[in-house]
Order: sequence, then C-alpha cells, then structure tokens
Amino acid sequence: MTWWNLASRVREVPLHRLLGATRDRVPVGADFGVMDRLDDLLSAVGKAVEQRFPRVKLKFRPGWDLDMLRAVRKQHPRETFHIDCNSGYRLADLALFRQIDEFRLAMIEQPLAHDDLVDHARLQSEIRTPVCLDESIAHPRHAAQALALKSCLYVNVKPGRVGGLTNAKIIHDLCQQAGIPCWVGGMLESATGAAACVALAMLDNFTYPADIFPSARF
Ligand SMILES: [Mg+2]
Repeated sequence: MTWWNLASRVREVPLHRLLGATRDRVPVGADFGVMDRLDDLLSAVGKAVEQRFPRVKLKFRPGWDLDMLRAVRKQHPRETFHIDCNSGYRLADLALFRQIDEFRLAMIEQPLAHDDLVDHARLQSEIRTPVCLDESIAHPRHAAQALALKSCLYVNVKPGRVGGLTNAKIIHDLCQQAGIPCWVGGMLESATGAAACVALAMLDNFTYPADIFPSARF
C-alpha cells in the first residue's frame, strides 16, 4: 500500500486512476450492529433512510435475527438491506436461511465459517438470496476457488484482509471476469486506510455501496 501511494505521488497520478478507476465518486452505505433495544435500531435505520444512504447493513446473529429483520422490513418495505452474519452459522441452519429469502435482502454476508468455501457453495445452491463472502476471501487464490465452486454471488473486498491493494485489485479483476460484483468493506480503518479504500472502491466492478464511513467520522 505504501508502494502504491508513493507511485501515485512520484507519477503525479491520483491513486484511483493508477489502480485503473474511471470514476471519481463512491456510493457508501450505512451499517448497524447489535443494539440493546430493537427500538434503538429502528430509529437509527430510520435516520439512515432519511439521509438517503443507498443501502443499510445489519449485523445478524442468534438472538438478533428474524424478529429484528421482520421489524426492519415492516418499517421499510422497499429499501435495500443486507445482513452480515460474521460466520455465526453452520450449514445445519439451512432452514433459517430459507426463511430469510422472504425478506428480499440484497445479500447475506459471510453466513458460514470464516475458512469455508464448500458449505457456502451448497448454501448458495439452496437459497435465492445472494451469498457474499468476506472473511473467507483472504487471498486471490481463495477468490479464484470461490468463483470456481460458485460459493457466492458477491465478494466483499478489504485491502487490509486480502494483503493490500495489489491483491485487492487482482480479486476485483477475477470477479469482474466471472461476472461477480464486489464492494469494498471496512474494518475501522484510520483516515489513511480509508483513503486507500476510497481509491480502490472507484474501480468499475465495485457496484454495491461501500462500507466506508462518512468523512465526518475522521
Ligand atoms: Mg463482514
């Protein structure tokens, strides 16, 4: 990442252009974790919808699951939502994921184990909602294998998880060739780390709104 930053300065080419981007804008989404009360979540989601965030991501785990999703969907029947399970489930929970289909989510992020590709492929073949891999893709090789196995229909790319911008771009390109859209995730980066994510997120195949925090955060 330092090399990319230096190359950008030496050549006087903005980082996003050097990476191959043709856009100079990035849509970003809103994210909400598990909260003490469902009402707190509903009010936070309501504010994000008012602020016109193009999509809202909800953490999803046992005890904060279907009832939460039902309440949010009831209040916002047409907005774009997805859930992030952070590897909280197993293939034995297939019946739960079948129930989730009715909520018309954009995707289910990392439902199964962090190091799995095979069970995710099985799950994707059994449900309509797209599966998105996050933790499972720590290297371009994992992305190539996930594409071959049809383990997902989206890939979340984080430079910090996949080994920097070079690997992030390789994964983006592999997914683009396979017709699998990507989006840039976030892991509480510093402003410096987030700047690299912004440049990356301008690449063409990052079509779903990114997890990059509004600049007010910094
Ligand atoms: Mg995630």
